[in-house]
Amino acid sequence: MLDEFGSSCDVQWRFDSSMEYTDAPPQPEPVSFDTMECPFCGTALPANAQACTNCDWTLEASKPAEPKASDAMAILLSIIPGLGHIYKGHRVMGALILFLITPTAIAFAILAAIASAGWGILMLIPYWGAVMLHVWAIDDRVTQKPDEGEQY
Ligand SMILES: [Zn+2]
Repeated sequence: MLDEFGSSCDVQWRFDSSMEYTDAPPQPEPVSFDTMECPFCGTALPANAQACTNCDWTLEASKPAEPKASDAMAILLSIIPGLGHIYKGHRVMGALILFLITPTAIAFAILAAIASAGWGILMLIPYWGAVMLHVWAIDDRVTQKPDEGEQY
């Protein structure tokens, strides 16, 4: 009984070691598709790296010609709610906010203002803030390109 157990262990151990032996040797630095090299110094970086960890290369600096919708500009345009969304390429959402949601919000605020001696108009402030926060948070469709096909 004991002997049988011991021999089966031995077989198991040999099986494991042979598996290890036939396996491909572990690569210390696998060239995988989710890494890239710094164009300046060649340091291995994550594929979506924004800056190099070794030198002062940054993704922004290497692509100066690419137009980029700025979050600050989008927020500024959201003084008129919806314009910031249109600016960022979300035209349908922007139009919806501009022509439907904002007039509704203003109508409600006016109704609330009538009912509350003017204070209801303050309801627009959190709404405004929410629109600006949202336009800051949404992705920028103007400069965003589909990632598929660019990676191997
Ligand atoms: Zn570098």
